[in-house]
Amino acid sequence: MTGILAVQGAFAEHAHILDLLSENYVLIRKKQDIPQNLDRLILVGGESTVQSKLIYELDLFQILRDKISENMPVLGTCAGLILLAQEIRDQNQTCFGTLPVCVKRNAYGRQLGSFSHTGHIGEIQNFPMRFIRAPYIEKILDPEVRILNLTDQKITAVQYQNQIGIAFHPELTDDLRIHQLFLNL
Ligand code: GLN
Repeated sequence: MTGILAVQGAFAEHAHILDLLSENYVLIRKKQDIPQNLDRLILVGGESTVQSKLIYELDLFQILRDKISENMPVLGTCAGLILLAQEIRDQNQTCFGTLPVCVKRNAYGRQLGSFSHTGHIGEIQNFPMRFIRAPYIEKILDPEVRILNLTDQKITAVQYQNQIGIAFHPELTDDLRIHQLFLNL
């Protein structure tokens, strides 16, 4: 069963994409929502500091981190990428820290916070990429991390084993291919 972390942010948009793909899911708002058979997780865009705080307060941290470490497929978009990152530039506190990259938050500057671009994401050609106060990946910390997209020399999408981290918002487009890629992991 796919879980969508739904404590804050763009969970409804991801749920909509899974509806279009006829994929069952649960919205995880508290520990009791986590099903026994959770085998996939989406970490959504929003505000990573708020989400991180709630993940600890709602006692979701250990169970979700253990599952990610045990190779459960996870898709982190925007704030979700920040939650996965092993390092966050200029910030001591990380959340799950399972993805060996260093991210820079609000990396495109607050004024130019929103923009669109079309690019290739791994084998996916011409994907509409929407950025909103987006981070980018400043550094790869393990040679096994595969870069899926470079935009203006900035890394915006990676895959490392079971984890896909994306700086932009595939859930805000009607293109289902990144979710399909994730569901096929
Ligand atoms: N800048 C936000 C953060 O640091 C992420 C933005 C987003 O998810 N759209 O949490």
